[in-house]
Amino acid sequence: MQRRVARFTLEGVDDSPVSVYPYTSEDGLGLELRRFRQADCDDVVLLVHGLTSSSDMFIMPEHHNLVNFLHETGFTDVWTSDFRMSNRFPYDAETHRYTLDDVAHWDHPAAMRELREHVGDRRVHVIAHCLGSVSFSMSLFGGAVDDVTSLVCNSVSLTPRVPAWSRVKLALGPALLEYLVGVSFLDSRFGDAPPLTRGWMISRAVSLFHRECDVRACHMESFMWGSGRPAMYSHDTLDPATHARIADLLGPSGLHYFRHVRKMVSAGRAVRYDPSDPRHTELPGDYLSGAADITTPVMFLTGDQNHVFPGANAACYEILEKLAPGRHELEIIPGYGHFDTFTGKNVHLDVFPKVVDFLKRSAA
Ligand SMILES: [Zn+2]
Repeated sequence: MQRRVARFTLEGVDDSPVSVYPYTSEDGLGLELRRFRQADCDDVVLLVHGLTSSSDMFIMPEHHNLVNFLHETGFTDVWTSDFRMSNRFPYDAETHRYTLDDVAHWDHPAAMRELREHVGDRRVHVIAHCLGSVSFSMSLFGGAVDDVTSLVCNSVSLTPRVPAWSRVKLALGPALLEYLVGVSFLDSRFGDAPPLTRGWMISRAVSLFHRECDVRACHMESFMWGSGRPAMYSHDTLDPATHARIADLLGPSGLHYFRHVRKMVSAGRAVRYDPSDPRHTELPGDYLSGAADITTPVMFLTGDQNHVFPGANAACYEILEKLAPGRHELEIIPGYGHFDTFTGKNVHLDVFPKVVDFLKRSAA
């Protein structure tokens, strides 16, 4: 099939130079920062993707993407970080036991150290999505990262909330899939597997319950994340090209991360996966325990049709508003869901201006 949009393409970004800065997580994974620089400026922006997505969600050529929008509004030095949850790396499809503590402790701090090597002491704003947002919030509120001028958290931060159907999937899914079905990850491309293989059968079984469109990867995404048809976004808010290539933007996901999310959902807040794990004793057991002392303003962003982490950001905002009145903001975008607040066809009109306004007020 001829692709309308090439995979891992940079063609969506204006003609500013792009450079890549490899960095290494503290447990030895090769990761990458990507820099899109038009000119030096006082306010650097770092974009952090979610689980199974990548920096590609911010540079899509089929819409007015966030990197270009930031360039046009004066933020001329924009970086993206591809950490261990990125589909640009093989880690998500490997058998592993990574948790969000690993990411918060070993990935984001390493990325920030590498970034500081190049931008010095200029202000750094971070815009993060999904479990990139949860884990970066854990880094910041857990004290592994500091010196962040502002943070935008899309969909979810330190208080994950999920629909009832997701609770069932989180409780049963990892064990059933690993021990009974025999897979260690779920892949949005299972629909392309040879007939009668495990992946093919999972995809066909999922599609039995998803008649809303004919893109099997879209059905798998709804199965992997949230509750809805589709769950991650509305078909109306996406460009058809984005919907058709959703598996390019959202890749395979290891199952163990779901166990950590389940613990957080049960606790009602971000907690360490294993409090007795000696590798993470520097991190707090409860990531909200020192929240009153964190002076970085946070914008909690979400669509009002969020079917992956419904109500999560409103809950976090309410908790922090009591601890530090007026420091943080809640921005709810009508008609949007979980993923389309960054990848929708009209985000340059409906979402990005609000984000940029927050960044500019935080820099003042
Ligand atoms: Zn669909």
